[in-house]
Amino acid sequence: MIDKKLVAWGSSGNIIREIAEYGAERAKVVGAENVYNFTIGSPSIDPPKCVHETMERYIASMPAAQLHTYAPAIGIPEVRAKAAKYLTETFGVEYRAQDVLITCGTSTCLAVLTRVLLSGGGRAMTFTPYFMDYKYYAESVGSSLTECPTDPDTFQLNLDAAEKALTPDTVMLVLNSPNNPSGVVLRREGLEGLCALLERKQKEYGHPIYLVADEPYRELVYDGQEVVYLPSVYRNAIYCYSFSKSMSLPGERVGFMALRQDMDDYADVMAACIGVLRAFGYICVSAMWQRVAVDCLGATSDLSVYKGNRDLLYGSLTEMGFSCVHPDGAFYLFMKTPEPDAEAFCRRAMKDDLLVVPGDSFGTPGYVRLAYCVSRETIERSLPTWRKLAKEYGLQ
Ligand code: PLP
Repeated sequence: MIDKKLVAWGSSGNIIREIAEYGAERAKVVGAENVYNFTIGSPSIDPPKCVHETMERYIASMPAAQLHTYAPAIGIPEVRAKAAKYLTETFGVEYRAQDVLITCGTSTCLAVLTRVLLSGGGRAMTFTPYFMDYKYYAESVGSSLTECPTDPDTFQLNLDAAEKALTPDTVMLVLNSPNNPSGVVLRREGLEGLCALLERKQKEYGHPIYLVADEPYRELVYDGQEVVYLPSVYRNAIYCYSFSKSMSLPGERVGFMALRQDMDDYADVMAACIGVLRAFGYICVSAMWQRVAVDCLGATSDLSVYKGNRDLLYGSLTEMGFSCVHPDGAFYLFMKTPEPDAEAFCRRAMKDDLLVVPGDSFGTPGYVRLAYCVSRETIERSLPTWRKLAKEYGLQ
């Protein structure tokens, strides 16, 4: 007998993928240029030049059998050493090669860390709006995710709400900045306040509370905002990074996690992560791609393209009367829907081949997420339809 809970996970589908698939079908009928698909957070621009140059260098210099071999499950030692050196030099927190595990993006970091940190029976917590997979990871280990609200006008942290949401069984807090789906970059003041609160709660509860920094969008900031490096503020912070977004390599599945050597229960957490990676078959990130990606650390795709998209879309929608928090990072815009039922708004927009996803999927009803990692032309062509909706909802 197959566990009904597992069956339900696989059958309930992913609303983002469903709407995106609808878009692909519609494109066959009306032409791709007439479908305005803002559903998927997949980069639309090329990786930085150094990616293909580095790949070619390896192909020319390394025997093919070595380039395409199995890598150790936790990453090639010299690749881990390069990532550790980069983190140490860039953020001033000292890491050794053995503190870094190479993973299939931050998805693997999150899945593994959830399993490890909640294995003693604790619970996870995050702030709304949030990336929906956090919930599945927590539930998949028989635990749950506490959703803590942020300030509704800014999506910045609300420390009073955080204090209320924390309980003695909270052992893991997932933070994501720049944020999917809001595009908000969390400010230093709020983060330092949160870390001080966690220090206090750790003492009160008598156990560590690990802060998992989920940062696939770290370099995607447009107005010079600071993205705070959490492990420099909080000893029990675990850094999770991915090459999927700012280096435009989502399909190559490369990322890593880094543990501070002075964090609580370091040896146990590290050993358990290595054990879970192996036991759950995360063997292994492509040997070639982990070499190439880590050699290019620090390089990004041409992010001015996304900034241009952000400015055009945010400026146009707010001018039409739609309301959204100004997104400083990632490539998402989180818009308040002019009717309370976001799914109804999505269905209405779909009739005009304008595809967005409801905020309910991110723990925040009454909003829709627009992924603006699309061509500028798609945004320009969609504007008359947005204007039509604005008029229909009495915004203009
Ligand atoms: N975390 C957030 C907030 C995301 O938006 C995503 C992908 O969209 C991921 C994690 C997983 O990304 P990857 O596994 O490609 O690094």
